[in-house]
Amino acid sequence: MKSRAAVTVGDREIELRTVAVPDRPPRGGALLRVTANGLCGSDYDLYSGHLREASPGLVPLPLVSGHEMVGVLERVDPEAAEKWAVSPGDRVVVDPAVRCGQCLDCRSTTDNRCRDLLRYSTMPLSRGSGLWGGNAEYMELLPGTLVVPVPDALSDEDAALYNPLGNAIHWLVTVAAVRPGDSVLILGAGQRGFACSAVAHNAGAARVIVTGLERDQVKAPLLARFGADTLLDAESADTVAQVMDLTGGAGVDVVVDTVPGTATSTRDGLACLRRGGRMVVAGIKSGAMDGLDINAITLRELVVRGVFGSSTFGVRRAVQMLTEARYPFAELHSHRFALEDLDEALRVLGGEVPGERPLHLTIVP
Ligand SMILES: [Zn+2]
Ligand SMILES: [Zn+2]
Repeated sequence: MKSRAAVTVGDREIELRTVAVPDRPPRGGALLRVTANGLCGSDYDLYSGHLREASPGLVPLPLVSGHEMVGVLERVDPEAAEKWAVSPGDRVVVDPAVRCGQCLDCRSTTDNRCRDLLRYSTMPLSRGSGLWGGNAEYMELLPGTLVVPVPDALSDEDAALYNPLGNAIHWLVTVAAVRPGDSVLILGAGQRGFACSAVAHNAGAARVIVTGLERDQVKAPLLARFGADTLLDAESADTVAQVMDLTGGAGVDVVVDTVPGTATSTRDGLACLRRGGRMVVAGIKSGAMDGLDINAITLRELVVRGVFGSSTFGVRRAVQMLTEARYPFAELHSHRFALEDLDEALRVLGGEVPGERPLHLTIVP
């Protein structure tokens, strides 16, 4: 059996190739027929070369990208069938982080601290079959993979949102421990901003403030339906002044920074926190932060925590939350592309195509 696969070979260079699918799944693993793969900002960062620049060695090219996988289990090794409680034919979402399950960190936390952590979409084509990403017709699943069954009521496109939503649940509920009555500031109005808004609102936040660019302002009505009280324009006015104004000078309890590239948002976020506030940094930055006042963290007893991906809890609860459909998740789907159009999809996602308003894009192989 063969699989078409979109192979990233260099910066802004993707080739559609035909790759042999292994006859059998790996021991303790499975073979997945991909039915949808969502794209997020980090896919554009890989495409544009920003990710390799920001973190050399993270993405060994060439590789098959794609880390928001939805698909049908075609073949399942008996060991995996028992351990994962799945059967061939089951429709599942796949967490991109593969934990070994054996090391000390795996046994003491559900976070991504595994000492031998693997990530789909960052594994080279030269390893085994090379089918380690969602931008292909088939994918190999290794032992240690977290698969979560998808209820029939959920479409493939909706299910693909498990990734941004699972991240948001991990960042806001597990890491920042948002409590009823908290005020939450979300930096960035992309798909992660929408997901964070819904999760903060669902967790009982009394006030949800989101910042975006000038071009994001058209998203305000939809963001409101995801629980946001206010969408600020971070381009035309000072974020800190606006947040202080809204909170009567008190600042917010929690900040989550989803903005990639610039560290300015992180500096603004720190300045928006009340004493003892919690900050989660999620966007991958291009460089160091200028003018970081360490005393502002020390004397105000701030908590600053970086996050990279989700957790078992986050992914499971994301599928549950998507199924409950308390928020209009389906309205986030702005584009759908075929595998051969991945290049165009990524340019739309990165804002390179005039007139397009990307929010959540899905590749359907
Ligand atoms: Zn992502
Ligand atoms: Zn481990």
